[in-house]
Amino acid sequence: MGELRVLELYSGIGGMHYALQESDMPSQVVAAIDINTTANLIYKHNFPDTPLWNKTIEGISLDDFNKLSFDMILMSPPCQPFTRIGLQGDITDPRTKSFLYILDLLPRLSRLPRFILLENVKGFEMSSARERLVKTLTECGYEFQEIMVSPPSVGIPNSRLRYFLIAKISTGQLSTQTSLKILDAFPHAAKSDSAEKPKVLSPTCQCTSQPEEEMQSGGVLYKLETRTESQRKIDQNSDLSVREIQDFLEPQTEVNMEHYLLPPKTLLRYGLLLDIVKPTCRRSVCFTKGYGRYVEGTGSVLQSSVETEVESVFMGLDQCSEEEKLQRLSKLKLRYFTPREVANLMGFPQSFSFPEQISTIQRYRVLGNSLNVLVVSRLLQLLVS
Ligand code: SAH
Repeated sequence: MGELRVLELYSGIGGMHYALQESDMPSQVVAAIDINTTANLIYKHNFPDTPLWNKTIEGISLDDFNKLSFDMILMSPPCQPFTRIGLQGDITDPRTKSFLYILDLLPRLSRLPRFILLENVKGFEMSSARERLVKTLTECGYEFQEIMVSPPSVGIPNSRLRYFLIAKISTGQLSTQTSLKILDAFPHAAKSDSAEKPKVLSPTCQCTSQPEEEMQSGGVLYKLETRTESQRKIDQNSDLSVREIQDFLEPQTEVNMEHYLLPPKTLLRYGLLLDIVKPTCRRSVCFTKGYGRYVEGTGSVLQSSVETEVESVFMGLDQCSEEEKLQRLSKLKLRYFTPREVANLMGFPQSFSFPEQISTIQRYRVLGNSLNVLVVSRLLQLLVS
């Protein structure tokens, strides 16, 4: 295979570009397109030679796309219209307009790209946007596979369950057949370490247990945690195919602790809602763009002093005075993961860096919008194999 000409849409900080490099296939990104100026500064800093278009996708003409003559499209369309927490505006949300424009454009390109990879949030699989995507790909003669995977399946201790679609133009040789079943693990053919056979999820069947069920199955333990949640964490921490958090930390001498420690106010107000992990854990929750600003559900925090047991700190904490609470919680030396550590957990290589003028909060924000590089790289290998 010659060098692939790749079009990177919604390029952000270049997660897709890194995945392409990681997959080792001969390729060049012929254009990266995004309208976020902060993300673009970071992209340019890391890929100074890649043409970066600071334009809205729907403002680019068919003619301009044709001139790029690309063999592959990599894209992560805005996910807000499809998130469970959002309003689920789906195709009526103005942020989906550019994606519908791409679907409209695809059949009219003078040459169809051989490969397409799309990333989106869990929830996209149930959207009308996904229906339109599947319809367009079928009409254009693509074979495709949809997969929902999370980084622990490539050995990374961080949850980030995402929807992926990989498509290749049909050669008529019936190598891979399109299946409308959504896989929940990498198929065997792809050098998978997992011995388990992928299960199949139907787009409407999601295997998440409801909070009410969890309450019934044993009530709330210390720290507002249910028995089911606690068991899930124990199971995740004992999965030896996943690496430990400490492999992803910066040398502690290089971390400015003062800067990353959780302030007393946060400890007191949100102590019970924190997802706390130790360096020896094999799990952490998904880092979102609010990490470092909001506490609930935005990502795990690190217990940097492991001399004290979390359980002993939280047991009976609600009966303590404010002063005593703070004294207890401070023993754990809870801190945020640094942006570099978040990047490590998202599979970004050491060569990735931020321009100095980008603030910590901005760094978390763009990382939260990005993707797990190693997961996408595995999918790319699967796609072109
Ligand atoms: N994969 C990227 C992140 C994608 S997030 C990464 O690794 O960082 C979605 C991106 O789409 C955001 O950066 C946002 O600025 C961009 N975007 C949203 N609507 C757009 C449009 N109409 N035209 C171009 N870029 C757009």
